[in-house]
Amino acid sequence: MRDALGRTIDYLRLSVTDACNLRCGYCVSRGEGPACPGGSPLDDGEVLALVRAFARLGVSRVRVTGGEPLLRPGLEGLVGGIAGVAGVRSVSLSTNGVLLAEAAPRLAAAGLSRVNISLDTLRPERMRRLAGADRLAEVLAGVDAALAAGLRPVKVNVVVARGCNEDEVPDFVRLASERDVHVRFIELMPIGNTGFFTPERRVGVAELLERAGPLEPLPEGERPCGAGPASYFRPRGARGTVGFIGALSRCFCSACNRVRLTSRGRILLCIGREGPELDLAALLRAGASEPELDAALGAFIRLKPARHRMSAEAGPARNSMCSVGG
Ligand code: SAM
Repeated sequence: MRDALGRTIDYLRLSVTDACNLRCGYCVSRGEGPACPGGSPLDDGEVLALVRAFARLGVSRVRVTGGEPLLRPGLEGLVGGIAGVAGVRSVSLSTNGVLLAEAAPRLAAAGLSRVNISLDTLRPERMRRLAGADRLAEVLAGVDAALAAGLRPVKVNVVVARGCNEDEVPDFVRLASERDVHVRFIELMPIGNTGFFTPERRVGVAELLERAGPLEPLPEGERPCGAGPASYFRPRGARGTVGFIGALSRCFCSACNRVRLTSRGRILLCIGREGPELDLAALLRAGASEPELDAALGAFIRLKPARHRMSAEAGPARNSMCSVGG
Protein backbone atom coordinates (compact mmCIF):
# COMPACT_ATOMS: atom_id res chain seq x y z
CA MET A 1 0.00 0.00 0.00
CA ARG A 2 0.98 3.63 -0.38
CA ASP A 3 0.80 6.43 2.15
CA ALA A 4 -0.62 9.86 1.36
CA LEU A 5 2.78 10.95 -0.04
CA GLY A 6 2.97 7.99 -2.42
CA ARG A 7 5.60 6.06 -0.44
CA THR A 8 5.16 2.29 -0.67
CA ILE A 9 4.76 0.80 2.80
CA ASP A 10 5.87 -2.82 2.68
CA TYR A 11 8.08 -3.23 5.75
CA LEU A 12 6.93 -3.91 9.32
CA ARG A 13 9.19 -3.72 12.36
CA LEU A 14 7.53 -5.86 14.98
CA SER A 15 8.55 -5.63 18.63
CA VAL A 16 7.85 -8.90 20.43
CA THR A 17 8.94 -7.91 23.95
CA ASP A 18 9.85 -4.83 25.98
CA ALA A 19 12.36 -6.78 28.08
CA CYS A 20 16.10 -6.65 27.45
CA ASN A 21 19.14 -8.39 28.92
CA LEU A 22 21.47 -5.42 28.27
CA ARG A 23 21.26 -1.85 29.57
CA CYS A 24 22.70 0.33 26.81
CA GLY A 25 22.85 3.94 28.00
CA TYR A 26 21.33 5.43 24.80
CA CYS A 27 18.37 3.07 24.85
CA VAL A 28 17.20 2.38 28.40
CA SER A 29 14.65 4.85 29.78
CA ARG A 30 15.17 6.36 33.17
CA GLY A 31 12.80 8.14 35.49
CA GLU A 32 9.12 7.90 36.20
CA GLY A 33 6.20 6.42 34.31
CA PRO A 34 5.77 3.39 32.10
CA ALA A 35 8.58 3.11 29.56
CA CYS A 36 6.36 1.13 27.21
CA PRO A 37 2.80 2.43 26.91
CA GLY A 38 -0.23 0.35 25.96
CA GLY A 39 -2.23 -2.57 27.31
CA SER A 40 -0.98 -6.10 27.96
CA PRO A 41 1.58 -7.62 25.55
CA LEU A 42 0.28 -9.36 22.45
CA ASP A 43 0.18 -13.16 22.58
CA ASP A 44 1.30 -15.21 19.57
CA GLY A 45 -2.22 -15.51 18.15
CA GLU A 46 -2.72 -11.74 18.34
CA VAL A 47 0.68 -11.04 16.75
CA LEU A 48 -0.20 -13.34 13.85
CA ALA A 49 -3.67 -11.81 13.42
CA LEU A 50 -2.09 -8.36 13.17
CA VAL A 51 0.73 -9.48 10.86
CA ARG A 52 -1.94 -10.99 8.59
CA ALA A 53 -3.69 -7.61 8.52
CA PHE A 54 -0.46 -5.82 7.57
CA ALA A 55 0.22 -8.45 4.92
CA ARG A 56 -3.26 -8.02 3.43
CA LEU A 57 -2.39 -4.35 2.95
CA GLY A 58 0.90 -5.17 1.21
CA VAL A 59 3.56 -5.65 3.89
CA SER A 60 5.95 -8.31 2.60
CA ARG A 61 8.95 -7.97 4.93
CA VAL A 62 8.78 -8.31 8.70
CA ARG A 63 11.64 -7.58 11.10
CA VAL A 64 11.28 -9.05 14.58
CA THR A 65 12.77 -6.79 17.24
CA GLY A 66 12.30 -5.66 20.85
CA GLY A 67 13.45 -5.17 23.66
CA GLU A 68 15.53 -8.26 23.09
CA PRO A 69 13.42 -10.59 20.93
CA LEU A 70 15.35 -13.73 21.92
CA LEU A 71 13.93 -13.30 25.44
CA ARG A 72 10.43 -14.08 24.17
CA PRO A 73 9.57 -17.68 24.99
CA GLY A 74 8.79 -19.77 21.91
CA LEU A 75 10.19 -17.24 19.44
CA GLU A 76 10.88 -19.93 16.81
CA GLY A 77 7.20 -20.87 16.74
CA LEU A 78 6.21 -17.25 16.27
CA VAL A 79 8.83 -16.75 13.54
CA GLY A 80 7.54 -19.87 11.79
CA GLY A 81 3.99 -18.52 12.02
CA ILE A 82 4.99 -15.12 10.58
CA ALA A 83 6.99 -16.75 7.78
CA GLY A 84 3.85 -18.73 6.89
CA VAL A 85 1.57 -15.68 6.56
CA ALA A 86 0.42 -15.25 2.97
CA GLY A 87 2.29 -12.34 1.37
CA VAL A 88 5.22 -12.33 3.81
CA ARG A 89 8.40 -12.94 1.78
CA SER A 90 11.04 -12.48 4.46
CA VAL A 91 11.34 -12.48 8.23
CA SER A 92 14.46 -10.94 9.74
CA LEU A 93 15.62 -10.39 13.31
CA SER A 94 17.34 -7.57 15.22
CA THR A 95 19.12 -8.88 18.30
CA ASN A 96 21.93 -7.99 20.66
CA GLY A 97 23.28 -11.47 19.91
CA VAL A 98 23.77 -12.54 23.54
CA LEU A 99 21.48 -15.58 23.14
CA LEU A 100 21.93 -16.07 19.41
CA ALA A 101 24.57 -18.82 19.27
CA GLU A 102 22.16 -21.42 20.55
CA ALA A 103 19.04 -20.03 18.84
CA ALA A 104 20.39 -19.42 15.32
CA PRO A 105 19.99 -22.95 13.87
CA ARG A 106 16.44 -23.31 15.28
CA LEU A 107 15.42 -19.88 13.97
CA ALA A 108 16.84 -20.64 10.53
CA ALA A 109 14.91 -23.92 10.48
CA ALA A 110 11.75 -22.04 11.51
CA GLY A 111 11.99 -19.74 8.49
CA LEU A 112 14.08 -16.77 9.62
CA SER A 113 15.88 -15.25 6.61
CA ARG A 114 18.57 -13.05 8.12
CA VAL A 115 19.78 -11.25 11.19
CA ASN A 116 21.10 -7.87 12.37
CA ILE A 117 23.28 -7.98 15.46
CA SER A 118 23.82 -4.87 17.58
CA LEU A 119 27.34 -4.55 18.95
CA ASP A 120 28.95 -1.26 19.94
CA THR A 121 32.37 -2.36 21.17
CA LEU A 122 34.89 -5.14 20.68
CA ARG A 123 36.42 -4.54 24.13
CA PRO A 124 35.04 -6.60 27.03
CA GLU A 125 35.62 -3.98 29.72
CA ARG A 126 34.02 -1.31 27.61
CA MET A 127 30.99 -3.47 26.93
CA ARG A 128 30.51 -3.82 30.66
CA ARG A 129 30.46 -0.03 30.95
CA LEU A 130 28.33 0.76 27.86
CA ALA A 131 25.85 -2.11 27.98
CA GLY A 132 25.88 -3.05 31.66
CA ALA A 133 27.50 -6.49 31.17
CA ASP A 134 30.41 -8.07 29.32
CA ARG A 135 28.71 -10.52 26.95
CA LEU A 136 31.17 -9.99 24.09
CA ALA A 137 32.22 -13.63 23.72
CA GLU A 138 28.59 -14.74 23.46
CA VAL A 139 27.78 -12.04 20.89
CA LEU A 140 30.76 -12.96 18.69
CA ALA A 141 29.74 -16.63 18.97
CA GLY A 142 26.28 -15.48 17.87
CA VAL A 143 27.75 -13.76 14.80
CA ASP A 144 29.54 -16.97 13.81
CA ALA A 145 26.47 -19.11 14.52
CA ALA A 146 24.31 -16.85 12.35
CA LEU A 147 26.81 -17.15 9.49
CA ALA A 148 26.97 -20.93 9.92
CA ALA A 149 23.16 -21.19 9.98
CA GLY A 150 22.95 -19.25 6.70
CA LEU A 151 21.12 -16.25 8.19
CA ARG A 152 22.78 -14.03 5.60
CA PRO A 153 23.53 -11.27 5.07
CA VAL A 154 24.63 -10.89 8.70
CA LYS A 155 24.73 -7.21 9.60
CA VAL A 156 26.49 -5.82 12.66
CA ASN A 157 25.00 -2.51 13.82
CA VAL A 158 27.32 -0.18 15.71
CA VAL A 159 25.89 2.95 17.34
CA VAL A 160 28.79 5.37 17.67
CA ALA A 161 28.89 7.92 20.49
CA ARG A 162 31.73 10.32 21.23
CA GLY A 163 33.64 9.50 24.37
CA CYS A 164 32.27 5.93 24.26
CA ASN A 165 33.46 4.06 21.17
CA GLU A 166 34.34 6.42 18.29
CA ASP A 167 37.94 5.20 18.47
CA GLU A 168 36.79 1.67 17.53
CA VAL A 169 35.57 2.52 14.01
CA PRO A 170 38.77 1.08 12.43
CA ASP A 171 38.44 -2.09 14.56
CA PHE A 172 34.94 -2.67 13.22
CA VAL A 173 36.14 -2.02 9.66
CA ARG A 174 38.68 -4.80 10.34
CA LEU A 175 35.83 -7.07 11.52
CA ALA A 176 34.18 -6.60 8.10
CA SER A 177 37.49 -7.44 6.46
CA GLU A 178 37.97 -10.64 8.40
CA ARG A 179 34.42 -11.98 8.54
CA ASP A 180 31.69 -12.03 5.90
CA VAL A 181 29.62 -9.46 7.77
CA HIS A 182 28.19 -6.07 6.88
CA VAL A 183 29.11 -3.56 9.56
CA ARG A 184 26.83 -0.53 9.71
CA PHE A 185 27.83 2.54 11.68
CA ILE A 186 24.75 4.26 13.04
CA GLU A 187 24.55 7.84 14.17
CA LEU A 188 23.26 8.31 17.69
CA MET A 189 19.63 9.49 17.67
CA PRO A 190 17.91 11.75 20.22
CA ILE A 191 15.22 9.30 21.26
CA GLY A 192 13.67 8.30 24.55
CA ASN A 193 13.86 9.42 28.13
CA THR A 194 17.47 8.29 28.49
CA GLY A 195 19.35 11.52 29.19
CA PHE A 196 22.13 10.12 26.99
CA PHE A 197 21.96 12.17 23.80
CA THR A 198 23.85 15.43 23.60
CA PRO A 199 24.90 17.20 20.38
CA GLU A 200 28.54 16.66 21.41
CA ARG A 201 28.07 12.89 21.69
CA ARG A 202 26.71 12.60 18.14
CA VAL A 203 29.33 11.54 15.60
CA GLY A 204 28.05 12.50 12.14
CA VAL A 205 28.42 10.40 8.99
CA ALA A 206 31.19 12.62 7.55
CA GLU A 207 33.35 12.01 10.62
CA LEU A 208 32.50 8.28 10.66
CA LEU A 209 33.67 8.02 7.04
CA GLU A 210 36.87 9.82 7.90
CA ARG A 211 37.56 7.57 10.87
CA ALA A 212 36.90 4.44 8.75
CA GLY A 213 39.84 5.18 6.48
CA PRO A 214 40.12 4.33 2.74
CA LEU A 215 37.01 2.59 1.37
CA GLU A 216 35.78 1.72 -2.10
CA PRO A 217 32.17 2.56 -3.02
CA LEU A 218 30.08 -0.56 -3.46
CA PRO A 219 28.36 -0.92 -6.84
CA GLU A 220 24.54 -0.80 -6.57
CA GLY A 221 24.19 -4.48 -7.56
CA GLU A 222 26.45 -5.65 -4.71
CA ARG A 223 24.53 -4.01 -1.88
CA PRO A 224 23.47 -6.51 0.77
CA CYS A 225 19.85 -7.65 0.65
CA GLY A 226 17.52 -5.38 2.67
CA ALA A 227 20.09 -2.58 2.38
CA GLY A 228 17.62 0.11 3.52
CA PRO A 229 18.92 3.59 4.26
CA ALA A 230 22.66 2.81 4.57
CA SER A 231 25.31 3.89 2.06
CA TYR A 232 27.74 0.99 1.56
CA PHE A 233 31.47 0.63 0.90
CA ARG A 234 34.00 -2.19 0.79
CA PRO A 235 37.35 -1.98 2.53
CA ARG A 236 40.05 -3.05 0.05
CA GLY A 237 40.19 -6.84 -0.20
CA ALA A 238 37.49 -7.31 2.46
CA ARG A 239 34.99 -10.15 2.66
CA GLY A 240 32.22 -7.96 4.05
CA THR A 241 31.18 -4.33 3.65
CA VAL A 242 30.74 -1.27 5.82
CA GLY A 243 27.73 1.05 5.72
CA PHE A 244 26.75 4.34 7.28
CA ILE A 245 23.31 5.37 8.51
CA GLY A 246 22.74 8.89 9.72
CA ALA A 247 19.13 9.85 10.40
CA LEU A 248 20.28 13.34 11.35
CA SER A 249 23.15 13.85 8.86
CA ARG A 250 21.33 12.31 5.90
CA CYS A 251 17.58 12.25 6.31
CA PHE A 252 16.07 9.34 4.37
CA CYS A 253 12.41 9.97 5.21
CA SER A 254 11.38 10.49 1.57
CA ALA A 255 12.19 6.81 0.94
CA CYS A 256 10.78 5.51 4.24
CA ASN A 257 8.86 2.28 3.67
CA ARG A 258 8.21 1.16 7.25
CA VAL A 259 5.73 1.10 10.07
CA ARG A 260 6.31 -0.18 13.60
CA LEU A 261 4.16 -2.30 15.87
CA THR A 262 4.97 -2.31 19.60
CA SER A 263 4.83 -5.48 21.68
CA ARG A 264 1.57 -4.10 23.10
CA GLY A 265 -0.03 -3.68 19.71
CA ARG A 266 0.30 0.05 19.07
CA ILE A 267 1.33 1.16 15.60
CA LEU A 268 3.83 3.94 15.21
CA LEU A 269 4.33 5.65 11.87
CA CYS A 270 7.64 7.42 12.53
CA ILE A 271 10.41 6.62 14.99
CA GLY A 272 11.58 10.22 15.18
CA ARG A 273 8.46 12.08 16.22
CA GLU A 274 5.63 11.61 18.65
CA GLY A 275 2.24 10.46 17.36
CA PRO A 276 0.09 9.62 15.70
CA GLU A 277 -0.42 6.17 17.23
CA LEU A 278 -3.18 3.62 16.80
CA ASP A 279 -3.95 0.96 19.40
CA LEU A 280 -4.51 -1.96 17.05
CA ALA A 281 -4.54 -4.45 19.94
CA ALA A 282 -7.53 -2.65 21.47
CA LEU A 283 -9.41 -2.93 18.15
CA LEU A 284 -8.55 -6.62 17.84
CA ARG A 285 -9.54 -7.32 21.45
CA ALA A 286 -12.84 -5.47 20.94
CA GLY A 287 -13.67 -8.04 18.24
CA ALA A 288 -12.98 -6.02 15.06
CA SER A 289 -13.52 -8.09 11.91
CA GLU A 290 -10.76 -8.45 9.29
CA PRO A 291 -12.34 -5.80 7.01
CA GLU A 292 -12.67 -3.45 9.99
CA LEU A 293 -9.04 -3.98 10.98
CA ASP A 294 -7.89 -3.46 7.40
CA ALA A 295 -9.91 -0.26 7.03
CA ALA A 296 -8.60 1.21 10.29
CA LEU A 297 -5.03 0.23 9.47
CA GLY A 298 -5.21 1.50 5.88
CA ALA A 299 -6.65 4.87 6.93
CA PHE A 300 -4.07 5.22 9.68
CA ILE A 301 -1.05 4.45 7.49
CA ARG A 302 -2.09 7.27 5.19
CA LEU A 303 -1.28 9.63 8.09
CA LYS A 304 2.43 8.72 8.01
CA PRO A 305 4.32 12.00 8.53
CA ALA A 306 6.53 13.37 5.76
CA ARG A 307 9.64 13.39 7.95
CA HIS A 308 10.99 12.95 11.44
CA ARG A 309 11.46 15.85 13.83
CA MET A 310 14.75 14.76 15.33
CA SER A 311 17.52 17.29 15.47
CA ALA A 312 20.68 17.58 17.49
CA GLU A 313 19.40 20.72 19.18
CA ALA A 314 15.72 19.90 19.88
CA GLY A 315 14.81 17.69 22.83
CA PRO A 316 14.57 13.94 22.22
CA ALA A 317 11.55 12.32 20.56
CA ARG A 318 9.65 10.69 23.40
CA ASN A 319 9.28 7.29 21.72
CA SER A 320 10.91 4.66 23.88
CA MET A 321 13.32 2.44 21.96
CA CYS A 322 12.49 -0.51 24.19
CA SER A 323 8.92 -0.51 22.93
CA VAL A 324 9.61 0.67 19.39
CA GLY A 325 12.46 -1.68 18.55
CA GLY A 326 14.85 0.66 16.75
N1 SAM B 1 17.68 -5.78 21.30
C1 SAM B 1 17.71 -5.73 19.87
C2 SAM B 1 19.04 -5.21 19.38
O1 SAM B 1 19.92 -4.97 20.22
O2 SAM B 1 19.20 -5.08 18.16
C3 SAM B 1 16.57 -4.97 19.23
C4 SAM B 1 16.14 -3.68 19.86
S1 SAM B 1 17.31 -2.35 19.84
C5 SAM B 1 16.28 -1.07 20.50
C6 SAM B 1 17.39 -1.97 18.11
C7 SAM B 1 18.49 -1.05 17.68
O3 SAM B 1 18.23 0.26 18.13
C8 SAM B 1 19.86 -1.41 18.20
O4 SAM B 1 20.75 -1.55 17.11
C9 SAM B 1 20.26 -0.23 19.04
O5 SAM B 1 21.63 -0.01 19.01
C10 SAM B 1 19.47 0.89 18.36
N2 SAM B 1 19.27 2.07 19.19
C11 SAM B 1 18.69 2.15 20.39
N3 SAM B 1 18.71 3.43 20.86
C12 SAM B 1 19.33 4.16 19.91
C13 SAM B 1 19.67 5.55 19.78
N4 SAM B 1 19.37 6.45 20.73
N5 SAM B 1 20.30 5.96 18.66
C14 SAM B 1 20.60 5.07 17.68
N6 SAM B 1 20.30 3.76 17.74
C15 SAM B 1 19.69 3.31 18.83
